Amino acid sequence: MKPYKKGPFLTSNHTQKPIMESKFFRSFLITIITSIFFFLLPISSDSSMDFLRTLTGVRPGTSAAGISKLKQYLIAIGHMSEKSQFANNDNFDEELVHAIKSYQKFFSLPVTGFLNPETLDQLQKPRCGVPDNPTATQSRIPAVSYFSFFPGKPRWSPTKKTLSYSFPKGTRQDAYAAISAATKEWSQQAPLKFAQTPDYDKADVKISFQVRDHGDGSAFDGPGGVLAHAFAPPDGRLHFDGDEQWVDAAQAGKMDLETVGLHELGHVLGLGHSTDKDAVMWPYIDFGVRKHLNKDDIDGIKALYK
Ligand SMILES: [Zn+2]
Ligand SMILES: [Zn+2]
Repeated sequence: MKPYKKGPFLTSNHTQKPIMESKFFRSFLITIITSIFFFLLPISSDSSMDFLRTLTGVRPGTSAAGISKLKQYLIAIGHMSEKSQFANNDNFDEELVHAIKSYQKFFSLPVTGFLNPETLDQLQKPRCGVPDNPTATQSRIPAVSYFSFFPGKPRWSPTKKTLSYSFPKGTRQDAYAAISAATKEWSQQAPLKFAQTPDYDKADVKISFQVRDHGDGSAFDGPGGVLAHAFAPPDGRLHFDGDEQWVDAAQAGKMDLETVGLHELGHVLGLGHSTDKDAVMWPYIDFGVRKHLNKDDIDGIKALYK
């Protein structure tokens, strides 16, 4: 075996060096291990909305990286015009001020047009990807109800008494029980029954888990941000974002399949978003929460299917 060459660090002039080196090496190792630990920690809370953190305090008339992404998001959720010519730049322009005001009004926040912490906090929460319809809910003064419909008020035909629903093969098992419970809640309030069928292609309501771009023009965004979306009648498609941490329960840090399913089935039936925070049709949902239909949801579905 070839012995190590005695290097200069073993000579009497350099007796301190090996100790210093080993100390240095030890602290280096500790730093590496701690950084790996802290790097791994926040992974579970990584959200597609993290870009908003850098926008605190950005003022109208200035520009900042992330503003164009915010504009795209506000377009996707219905608070900025799809026709905007300025959606691809990072300028905090008048159009963005207008969009933020629409958003703040819809969610009962102080209407300032500024990216104050309260607004950014609301924006980064997980929600449904179906656009809000601000004009439908803000026209009612005084507000006695908060529900809304899709433009043109589409609903299933009165001759349709039962909606069949189905999942593609290989869908996670807990989605079946979650959706079954959600369909029962709506059936108690609307003259429509739901029946599960194995024939996915022929089902009225097609429920599936999708990730990122999945070909319907509304790409999912990975963990956080948008959780699910569904299409107005008589389309029947209901998509969950497969990148979320789903569970069929109210469990801390996880998203409840039944509650989000209940919300999305509301869209499948023709309901839009409600501005009542307690309604299932409110666009936001917190982790670890299970909700059931409230008076506003019931008033909404009864108004649509009377
Ligand atoms: Zn929704
Ligand atoms: Zn989709």
